[in-house]
Amino acid sequence: MLDADFFRRWMAAATASVDREAERLTDLDSAIGDADHGSNLQRGFRAVATALEKDAPDTPGAVLTLAGRQLISTVGGASGPLYGTLLRRTGKALGDASEVDTAQLAEALRAGVDGVMALGGAAPGDKTMIDALLPAVDALGDGFAAARAAAEQGAEATIPLQARKGRASYLGERSIGHQDPGATSSALLIATLEEAAEG
Ligand SMILES: [Mg+2]
Repeated sequence: MLDADFFRRWMAAATASVDREAERLTDLDSAIGDADHGSNLQRGFRAVATALEKDAPDTPGAVLTLAGRQLISTVGGASGPLYGTLLRRTGKALGDASEVDTAQLAEALRAGVDGVMALGGAAPGDKTMIDALLPAVDALGDGFAAARAAAEQGAEATIPLQARKGRASYLGERSIGHQDPGATSSALLIATLEEAAEG
């Protein structure tokens, strides 16, 4: 079972991962966006880490809801509201249970991804974070390693796509040949579930 500690470890691992990969995310965003994805997420997840230390929410849902609120209030551009909505909707779907299982997490994450699609208007194949998140949610029933592999494959599969949403879509065909930064950071977020499970 996954308790509040697991979700705090997940957010801590995500913060560390975004710190490690910030430069790569910004490089990807400089190719087809405005070169701020790494620094934006870094600022947001550091605020998440600080808030979780201060408030110590005691249910899985409360951890993710607080994290989502922090991302919405500290990250500018599109990625703050999108990531914030992902975590807040997922947290709300988990309710006030003190522990959840992987199937419940998968169901809640699906609600979170639905929220992201509703907010951003992106569908699968539009070269966005959805292309990593949706395959991960579908694979989560087979475990965290499977979700990680699906998210990483989904992010890599954005390379040949033409962007149809977000700033990269302004580039039209010139967005082809570059991995989407949002799909890449989404794969990082999913990959850190496995780290959290290892303790
Ligand atoms: Mg950007």
